[in-house]
Amino acid sequence: MYQDFQKYLQSTLNDIREAGLYKNERVIITPQSSGIQVEGGKDVINFCANNYLGLADNKELIQAAKDRMDARGYGMASVRFICGTQDTHKQLEKAISDFFGTEDTILYAACFDANGGLFEPLLTAEDAIISDALNHASIIDGVRLCKAVRYRYANDDMADLEKQLQAAQAQRFRIIATDGVFSMDGNVCPLDKIYELAQKYNALVMVDESHSAGVVGVTGHGVTEQYNLRGKIEILTGTLGKAFGGSVGGFTTGKKEIIDLLRQRSRPYLFSNSIPPMIAAAGIKTLEILTRDNTLQDRLHANTEYFVSRMKAAGFDIKPTQSAICAVMLYDARLSQEFAAALQEEGIYVTGFYYPVVPQGQARIRVQLSAAHTTEQLDKGVAAFIKVGKKLGVLK
Ligand SMILES: *Cc1c(COP(=O)(O)O)cnc(C)c1O
Repeated sequence: MYQDFQKYLQSTLNDIREAGLYKNERVIITPQSSGIQVEGGKDVINFCANNYLGLADNKELIQAAKDRMDARGYGMASVRFICGTQDTHKQLEKAISDFFGTEDTILYAACFDANGGLFEPLLTAEDAIISDALNHASIIDGVRLCKAVRYRYANDDMADLEKQLQAAQAQRFRIIATDGVFSMDGNVCPLDKIYELAQKYNALVMVDESHSAGVVGVTGHGVTEQYNLRGKIEILTGTLGKAFGGSVGGFTTGKKEIIDLLRQRSRPYLFSNSIPPMIAAAGIKTLEILTRDNTLQDRLHANTEYFVSRMKAAGFDIKPTQSAICAVMLYDARLSQEFAAALQEEGIYVTGFYYPVVPQGQARIRVQLSAAHTTEQLDKGVAAFIKVGKKLGVLK
């Protein structure tokens, strides 16, 4: 039996390779940071991690994790409702609620699970989900698992959203679902306008704060801070895998009854293991670091502005960004790959994205800034971009 299947797999893999879409994993042999070493020993400056606040190798987090592992053990060997809930989990849920100004929080193994297990327990075929066309794969999958009627609106297009909301008046309950920051362009969802439309058309709102929590807003409290809507949005989801320490874990936070029902019915919560106490403890420490002062958030914002303004001054075509994502537009797929490879030769670690990850003819290099970048690293990054840009004819 396997022979036939093997042939099929081999031919599929070949198709992927021939289309130039085969993903090779580049191996890093140091902790995740703004400066890393890759296999073979080359030192590179890292511009493609979601390590926005530079916490992935933070000493305080490592210590908090170690201490809690000593005190509470390695793993839970259970789901939350059987025997997988420790005080640490409850403390982290409380800390996340306090951070976002929400009523309650439920933890998941990942934000992928938080989104995957969000809609199905809450909504039925009588209800509607109105989803931004550029939403993350995990929201799309979560919507697919739910029987609610689906509506889609073009990215950030409020006229289209209004049209969909009008159509969705046919259903009982409506929820608008959107990413906080769209990861390919770095734009922030227009939550003020979304909220207004939600009021007008009697809809709930769900925002995925994965790329915005810790990043967006003066103190990094996310999109609800940016738009002065703290406590007003019914559902927020997020990850501990990006700005919040870069490890694993996800959460849904919002209205008390919503979280309560998710604890009763959300399948990735009910049928998947609790996160280890050490991870929860490091999560608590992360939120403590972010609320004790604004050092990391300020540095991230300053670094982003510094990098983006220099890249623009150099003549690069940069997508308007309101986050720590800087999309350097090259348009041509092959060029984006050549450019990224040439940058790696220069010791600059980035990724080129092209169709189908971004629309056809919209290839780019996505730079992600971090509070951990030094000015020297940013200068080296810009200098390498200019050197390669001239060599490949992108800059005159
Ligand atoms: C990264 C990301 C996720 C997935 O988060 P994990 O915790 O890594 O599963 C979900 N949604 C968005 C918008 C993301 O960017």
